[in-house]
Amino acid sequence: MEDPRGILEIAGKRIPPGKRMKIEIPIARLFDDTEMSMPVMVIRGRESGPVLFLSAAIHGDEINGVETIKRLLANKRINSKIKGTLIAMPIVNAYGFNSNSRYLPDRRDLNRCFPGSETGSLGGQIAHILMREIIEKSTHGIDLHTGAIHRTNLPQIRADLTDPETETLAKAFGVPVIIDSNTRDGSLRQAALEKGIPMLLFEGGEALRYEEKVIQTALMGILSVMESIGMIAPKERKRRKRPENVFIARTSYWVRAPHSGSLRVRVKLGAMVKEGQTLGVISDPYGSYMAKVKSHRTGIIIGMTMLPLLNQGDAMFHIAIFEDSEAVEERLEDFDDALDLNDGR
Ligand SMILES: [Zn+2]
Repeated sequence: MEDPRGILEIAGKRIPPGKRMKIEIPIARLFDDTEMSMPVMVIRGRESGPVLFLSAAIHGDEINGVETIKRLLANKRINSKIKGTLIAMPIVNAYGFNSNSRYLPDRRDLNRCFPGSETGSLGGQIAHILMREIIEKSTHGIDLHTGAIHRTNLPQIRADLTDPETETLAKAFGVPVIIDSNTRDGSLRQAALEKGIPMLLFEGGEALRYEEKVIQTALMGILSVMESIGMIAPKERKRRKRPENVFIARTSYWVRAPHSGSLRVRVKLGAMVKEGQTLGVISDPYGSYMAKVKSHRTGIIIGMTMLPLLNQGDAMFHIAIFEDSEAVEERLEDFDDALDLNDGR
């Protein structure tokens, strides 16, 4: 917990309680000597409380999270009355963001460079600055992602549920599907966990797109986590509402293309598929060859390719295994309907 009278300093700038401040954290210079910096918005409440960091576009082309953070910062519940501090980093990989790319200029994946070092590659240096200036000063975190290019993901939380505090946060986020996943080497999530900071990874939608349902889901999830850790007061109507069901998958698998060709998809994201069900058909351009693509086990489609042109072995459908897939499908439909109702803004 943060001390309200304590000093919060980011990149040499002091943020007093009750202040909202935009800070540019210097990173490295471009070839032409242009200075690169990472924009960070800090909202420090008057009262003490948790320090929550939000990050988006660690993969520069995953932009749903950028819009999510923008809308969160405009939300009237986010003001000096929050308890604790919100540190929002809408564009972590500014290089990739400005060039519609997932990667850094040296083709490195920033989310494999953590915790980084002062003398490392560009990615290592950025990771190190992020750890030192933000992550190590935080008590909780949420990292926003989308599927990679030409792939879409069902809105979902990925978290290491072996940590009870992380599990509580994951459930508080409120999306129907949680994937219990170990952290990958070099990821921000792993580096935060090693510092004892519980954090969630939100996945939803496709790279290089703004998707209304995904943005709304992420926004509601962040606000819901902020309620659960006491940063904002829960809304009246929500206080009376029963907690919604969340479903945890402990395993998932990818169905890969059995043959090169073009794919006609027969299922949709969030649908339940049974073992042996046809997910799509791959054919050549003349229609003289057809191959059915089948699921290996019953589960829910949590990710899929958006590009119908496939090489043999390409990942096509990501299927998560649940105890009761039918219940998950039903809950996902209800969740979707509820979002539609909110659409008339
Ligand atoms: Zn990503």
